[in-house]
Parts: sequence; C-alpha cells; structure tokens
Amino acid sequence: MRLRDKVALITGGASGMGRLAALTFAREGARVAAVDVAARPGEEVASEIARSNGQALFIKADVGREDEVRGAVRRTVERFGRLDILYNNAGIFPERDGSVVDLDEAVWDQVMTVNLKGIYLCCKHGIPELLRAGGGSIINIASFVALVGCTVPQDAYTASKGGVIALTKSLAVQFGPKGIRANAIAPGPVETPLLTSWLLANPDAKQRRLDRIPMGRFGRPEDIVQMALYLASDESAWVNGSVLVVDGGITSNYF
Ligand code: NAD
Repeated sequence: MRLRDKVALITGGASGMGRLAALTFAREGARVAAVDVAARPGEEVASEIARSNGQALFIKADVGREDEVRGAVRRTVERFGRLDILYNNAGIFPERDGSVVDLDEAVWDQVMTVNLKGIYLCCKHGIPELLRAGGGSIINIASFVALVGCTVPQDAYTASKGGVIALTKSLAVQFGPKGIRANAIAPGPVETPLLTSWLLANPDAKQRRLDRIPMGRFGRPEDIVQMALYLASDESAWVNGSVLVVDGGITSNYF
C-alpha cells in the first residue's frame, strides 16, 4: 500500500476527482478526511470507504470560510491523530465566468474565494499540522488554462488557477526545508460534473475541445488521481515546486 499510515485531508472530496482520490487514497492505506460543502454525496464517499474496510471521515465545510476550515483541520487531527497530506482540490467553474470586460464582480469574487482563498485557508490551518507530523505533501489542483490562453475566456477561473501555481511555488521554497513538499497538478479537460454539468453538455463546445486533445479523448478522473497518488506518496520524495501537467497533450498543441 502506497499511503500506509498516512492521513490525508481532501477538499472537494464529494464529487469528481476529489471523490475518486478519497476512495483511491483509502484503498492505498491512508485515513481520509473528505471535506466538501455537499453533505449527502460526501457522507456517501465516507460510507463507501468504510464498507471497503477503509477509514474515512466526511466533514461538511466551505473552504472559503476560515472558521470552517479551521474546524475541518481540527476534526481531522482529533480523529486520526495527525495530518500528512493536504490535497487542495475543491474548485468551481461557473457558467457565468467569462471575459473581464463583462464579468460580474460577484462571480470574480466567488471564484477567487473558493479556488484561491480556499487554498490559502487550508494551508494556513493545515501546514502547522504537517509540520507537527514532521513533514508532508501539499497537492494543489490548478488547471491547464493557467498555462495557455483561450479564445473562449473564463478569466476568473484562469486567474485563480494562475494564483494556485504561484502560491504552490512559494510554499515549496518556504516549507521544503522543513520537509513539506508542495506541488500543483494542471489537469486538462476531465469529464466530471464540473464540465459535464454545462460546458460539455453543448455538443459544439465539446467537439471544439476534443479536437484540441492529441490523445483523442477527455481526461478521466483516474488520469489525474494517479498523479496525485504519486505526489502524496513517498515515491515523489524529491518532487517539490513542480507543476505536473496531465492533459492528454492539449497544452502542447499548436495546431
Ligand atoms: P467537481 O465539480 O466534480 O468537484 C468539485 C467538488 O468541490 C464538489 O464536490 C463541490 O461540492 C466541491 N466544492 C465546491 N465549492 C466548495 C467549497 N466552497 N468548499 C468545499 N468544497 C467545495 O469538479 P472536478 O472536476 O472534480 O474538480 C476538482 C478540481 O479540479 C477543481 O479545483 C477544478 O477546478 C479542477 N480542474 C478540473 C478540470 C476538469 O476539466 N474537470 C480541469 C482542470 C482543473
């Protein structure tokens, strides 16, 4: 088991890639705290792990609210005794996002609060626990859109993910000497509710994106979670400050 004896806190653990990460990490021996605003699917993830003899806890919390993040970290450590892996995965991609010139301030603020402030808060309260554990791994989920421009803009989302990458590098150099590695994953388009709920429901938008992916298909949650598993495990002991692009080649595609 690749994560034996480790404790992982996974935000956005109720759906999509976070859900699969919770199940996968538990199967690999980790005790998992799945944190999400969505209570019912979150409880289901914890129950599914328990049915497979894994150890998991669901915590309902909004990553954009400091009191809730503080409480989620505290409950994780109370229950499992320590924290080794902080997997900052929660994110939103609202349909109302767009170009800065016609983007509502409220949408900008909402996206920044969840996608970027959420990581700041989870790190603020999680890093002291990683230090107490003697080190650990921070995995931040960015996006390929932070690496290339897009003529169909989602500017709040893109800017938030650019911030995730910059923050990851700062964390890597600050806390690397103390045994904490911080890395970002930049996924390409992955078929999860985040995309299928609206963007990929439009056949033209779907085909347009598919045409850009050299591997000829959208990503699957496991494509990303396998990278996260590597980053969470000791196999990646010398990987720090990196942005791991897992995108079927979309960001390498000039034509
Ligand atoms: P998803 O919508 O299936 O899951 C996201 C989860 O985050 C949901 O369970 C949701 O309830 C939770 N969440 C939302 N706001 C929250 C909050 N304030 N506090 C706590 N939890 C909250 O999406 P996904 O595709 O699995 O996304 C996971 C991460 O991957 C996100 O950060 C997303 O931006 C990123 N990402 C996704 C894609 C993609 O194509 N799906 C591509 C690049 C990056």
